[in-house]
Parts: sequence; structure tokens; C-alpha cells
Amino acid sequence: MYLCSMDLSNALTHKIFKVVSDSSTSLELETYVIGGYVRDFLLERGFKKDIDFVTIGNGIALAKEVSKNLPENPKVSIFKNFGTAMLKAEGIDIEFVGARKESYDHNSRKPSVENGTLEDDQNRRDFTINALAISLNKESYGKLLDPFNGIEDLENKIIRTPLDPDITYSDDPLRMLRAIRFACQLDFNIEQNSLDAITQNKERIKIISNERVTEELHKILLCKKPSIGFGLLHKTGLLPLILPELTALEGIDEIEGQRHKDNFWHTLEVVDNIATATDDLWLRWAALLHDIGKAPTKKFDKKIGWTFHGHEFVGSKMVYKLFKRLRLPLNDKMKFVQKMVFMSSRPIAISEDVTDSAVRRLVFDAGESIEDLMTLCEADITTKNPKKFKQYLNNFKKVRQRIVEVEERDQIRNFQPPVSGEEIMETFNLKPSREIGILKDAIKEAILEGEIPNEYEAAKTFMFEKAKTMGLKKI
Ligand code: ATP
Ligand code: MG
Repeated sequence: MYLCSMDLSNALTHKIFKVVSDSSTSLELETYVIGGYVRDFLLERGFKKDIDFVTIGNGIALAKEVSKNLPENPKVSIFKNFGTAMLKAEGIDIEFVGARKESYDHNSRKPSVENGTLEDDQNRRDFTINALAISLNKESYGKLLDPFNGIEDLENKIIRTPLDPDITYSDDPLRMLRAIRFACQLDFNIEQNSLDAITQNKERIKIISNERVTEELHKILLCKKPSIGFGLLHKTGLLPLILPELTALEGIDEIEGQRHKDNFWHTLEVVDNIATATDDLWLRWAALLHDIGKAPTKKFDKKIGWTFHGHEFVGSKMVYKLFKRLRLPLNDKMKFVQKMVFMSSRPIAISEDVTDSAVRRLVFDAGESIEDLMTLCEADITTKNPKKFKQYLNNFKKVRQRIVEVEERDQIRNFQPPVSGEEIMETFNLKPSREIGILKDAIKEAILEGEIPNEYEAAKTFMFEKAKTMGLKKI
């Protein structure tokens, strides 16, 4: 046994630990808290909402016993194939597993499993810092079990595999993404042998389902500094296998002395910037993808230099394919990301000359997402020239101010046509037809252009004038 002298009973103050410990004793089992809970306790990352227990024996039986001993008798979900059981108590997800030994087949990340000792179980863990366990057994209650010196790796901020990294990553390539995700979340370094092994085994990522890849990408995107994760994905060669649209942005071309910026590294800066402004996962996705249309639209023009005409439109179309491939939701979240990508240059285009009608059109097109769009644009400023930086930011400040002013007056954000289609039909005795669309559009245009206010009476008067020019008569 690698019993360590370190006493961590202070990690076990929550009453769930006593219940698990007593349940384990009554079934004559040996049980340990293991993995993320122990790691995050030592890193002082705040109380974790999921706790993993490993028992030498039947994890499902232990889960049932724990449920019996909890006042609320929570439902036990059993995953027979995995030999695990889960229950929820006091808002905590609690998972039980019987200690096991794993052996892998080359074509799958699903190992064949047999019962094992605690050491076997710790050996199958992905990283030394995730193999830390605390005893819940009477004679050693609260003692740390740290077979791979995970404590030292925690102190030195190192991600290291307990066994040969080449085998660890090849067995279950999801661990490559987990290593990178933990490096990003915890601000740790991946040990060199591990980095080399990930690079060598990168192609193995193909056996991982897109759902699992996406889960890790979400976690990386939600980090304080996502560029650490994306930088590592890039460095190890995983990124082109997962998000080739992003790596296609890498590089600087030069023709006749004219260069464009490296849009890949620019994008990572934008993502880091937006991470300081919002925790919204989908706005962060939008930042990550806002320039993907630049690779397929890049051209060199002798007169104006490098251009990316229509990249916002092309990029927004690419979002759908990318979301579909990565099994991201094809719902309003995707539409939001598409909209952000499509509109990402709009506030820049009007920031020099902020006319009321340009602001109204911007708010009309962005609708509820106008603030998010402005946040994206501000994050998009990555110039290293302090004077320009300030100037761009000030321009956006002006745009924001004008949005507030125009909004107070015209309420364009949730634009509803002040005169409805039905009313137009009734007024002119029309069946559903082109004319109705033309009239509605003309009213909307007049409002956006500031010719009339966004009000019923004004819109109606305008409608009659317009109808006259179309030869329509009121009945
Ligand atoms: P978090 O919950 O913050 O993402 P965690 O370390 O708790 O981090 P989980 O996915 O909840 O991660 O897994 C719990 C534990 O199970 C880990 O700490 C690790 O010991 C082990 N584990 C999870 N996934 C793997 C894997 N793919 N290979 C080996 N061990 C794993
Ligand atoms: Mg966990």
C-alpha cells in the first residue's frame, strides 16, 4: 500500500463521506474518494459538485447501501456495462465504481475489464494528479494514497501519466484532449514525454466520437485563457484533425511586400479577449469561428492588397457544416453563432461615421444579440498599436452610445411592423399577395431610414401615400 502520511480528513467534512464510509464498513468493503475531488480539494478550487468513489468489490452494491442510508433515499442509476452506479444527493453527483484492471483493444477505447486492487485502479487513471485517493476506511480514515507522487506534480503544476504515456494515450486517445483541457483549466504544463506521445498518437483521435471531442472543446473554450488549450492542440497536431477550418487560417502571405495578419493567432487572441468579457459558451464559439471564412475567400488584389471579400457570409455558411460534424446543436445556438459570424464586421463598417439610420439598421439586423455583437467586435481589436487600439475602442464606445440613444427613440430591437399584414389586406381589400409585402417593406424601410418614427399613426399615413403610388385604393 502506498499509504502516505498526509492526513486529509479536512477534505471529508461533508456528511456524505461519513455515510459512504459507514455503508462501506457495513458491507465489509474498502472504499476511497478518488480523482477530481481530491485533486481540486488540494488545489483549493472550491467545493466540487461531483465526487467519485472507488471500492474494492462491488460498486453498485455500495451505491445501493449508501442510498439506503441517506434520509432522502435517492434513486440509484446503474450502468451495468461499466460496473458503475450514480446517485444525486444534496446537489452532488456521486459515482461509485468497483476497483478494476483494464486492458485495451487497438480499435476501441472501450477496455475489457476485470476486478482489481486499488493499485490496479489507480494505474488505469489518466494522470498522476487524478489518481490521488483518500481512504474512508476505519484504520486509515483521511489518509492520502498517492502511488505516483501526484502531490509533487500538483505542486509543480505538471500533467503526467502514471504509466508509459505512449500506451496511456494510445489506449484511450480521449486522454490527449483531457490532458490539454486540464493544462488549460489548471494552468499546468504537460510533461515533455506526454507531449511527445500525444503528438505521436494524434491520429488515434479519430476513434473518439465527435460528441466527446466537443465536450472537451467546450471545456477548453470556457477556460480563463482558452488559447492555452488551442495552442496545445495546435502544437501537438491535433487541431487540424478536429478543427481544420481554424488551422487553415494560419500563416502570413506576402506578395509585392504586402502582408496580411496571421488570422489563426489573431483568432486565439480574440477568444482570450472575449473570455474576459463573457462566460457565454456560444459567444466564445462565435469568437473562435468569426474569421473562418477568411481562408476560402483570401485573394490578392494589385491595387488594394489582400482581401477577404464576403468572408462573413462564407464563414456563417461554414458554421453549419462544422456544427453538424462536431455534433453541436443545430438549433438557435447555431443560428446565434452564424449571426455573430455573419455580422462580425458590421459595427466596424459603421464605426467611422455613425449615422442614425446605420445604427437603426444594425440594431434591426442584430435584434436581441446587439450587445453580444458589440462585445465580439471589441474583443476583435488585437492591434498592437496603442493609439489605434484606443481609437477603435472609442469608435465602438460611440456606436454603443448611439445604439442606446436610437433605441430610446425608436425601439428597433424587437421590431414588429406597426401596421400588420392583415390590416393592409383589410384596408385595400387584398388577398395575400406581393403588394402586401411591398407595403410592409416600404414602411420598415421608411422607419429604418428615419423618414417616419416607429409609430402606428405615422406608419399608416405613410402606407396610404405609398399605396397611392401603387394604384391601390382604400375600400
Ligand atoms: P472534472 O470533473 O473536473 O472534469 P475529473 O478529474 O473529476 O475532472 P471526470 O471525467 O469526472 O474528471 O473523471 C473522474 C476521474 O476518473 C478522473 O479524475 C480520473 O481519475 C478518471 N478518469 C476519467 N476519465 C478517464 C480516462 N479517459 N482515462 C483514465 N482515467 C479517467
Ligand atoms: Mg469529475
